[in-house]
Amino acid sequence: MRGRSLRGALALLVACGAIGTMSVAESAEPKPRWVLVLHGGAGSIPGDSPDDIRNGYENGIRQAMDVGVRLLEEGRPAVDVVAEVVVSLEDSPIFNAGKGSVFTAAGGHELDACIMDGSTMGSGAVAGVKRLKNPIRAARLVMDNTRHLLLAGDGADEFAIAAGCDEVDQSYFFTSRRFHALNRYLRENNQPPLKSPAYALPKGVTIEPDFADKPGNTVGCVALDVHGNLAAATSTGGLNGKMYGRVGDTPIVGAGTYANKFCAASGTGIGEQFMRHTACTKVAWLVEQGQSTQDAVEHCLTKVLNPGDGGIIAIDANGRVTAQSTTGSMPHAIADSSGRRDIGIWMEK
Ligand code: ASP
Repeated sequence: MRGRSLRGALALLVACGAIGTMSVAESAEPKPRWVLVLHGGAGSIPGDSPDDIRNGYENGIRQAMDVGVRLLEEGRPAVDVVAEVVVSLEDSPIFNAGKGSVFTAAGGHELDACIMDGSTMGSGAVAGVKRLKNPIRAARLVMDNTRHLLLAGDGADEFAIAAGCDEVDQSYFFTSRRFHALNRYLRENNQPPLKSPAYALPKGVTIEPDFADKPGNTVGCVALDVHGNLAAATSTGGLNGKMYGRVGDTPIVGAGTYANKFCAASGTGIGEQFMRHTACTKVAWLVEQGQSTQDAVEHCLTKVLNPGDGGIIAIDANGRVTAQSTTGSMPHAIADSSGRRDIGIWMEK
């Protein structure tokens, strides 16, 4: 069965190549007890990247996958699992979420995150937070402890810190590669580059030499647990060089993150496009109408969004998954209770 579905997946890959979408997918037969999919952001990581870059992505993805696999094996609910997987990705400096977040044009960091429990339609999100080590934990607290769905800015920071979330200084988010990426963006847009971030660097931390790095690397996770529940979570530093105050699709339910009893989806890419088209809701709705996650995501990425806008991971209630992107790369992992453990950066492999 696995061989046949794997061949089917390869055929789909070839078919998708013709329309400029890279994908990995496999129908789950028989239905696995649990399934996990995660992404490390749509982008254009060069295929000839040095080993340390490739290993950095793969290790970050593997570590997060291992967290999710352990929790799902323990029988934990999907909503807990997606949160903990995203925490692991937020703590890695390689991804554009938590520790490695990109810079705003003003030289600071503003982070967005959202979580949704498909079994209850409960959801929580934070936008434009500046002092939280793990914005996804704050999103979870908004869902669990408030009557609201989205908190933004200072109110979100203060609420989460009062509720026990780890507080950090803006300099916690600093990485040289993101600082150079900001300055490249500013130069390309005829704006003067910054000499330093908008905050003081911690003692001993210096801006290391430039290396050509590509922006991207928002993180997300979807899961089906042993109880049959679906959940989704997404976290990001947003777009490189974004305006101070800009909020993207990630914390907007239905745009960058969505889950119901039919489908869970997490998106990454140009947030304005995902918001305009409520991309993740559209995927879930198509799945509810009977489409496979593969077809629903492909439709959304190629017929609704523009080629190059981004990528989406999705899972349905039968454990059928897809991870697709119309950009050059999207680090991702797919794992399930049958022992599947697939990790990739470029989906053609
Ligand atoms: N979608 C994110 C945003 O627009 C960025 C990304 O996925 O790279 O904020």
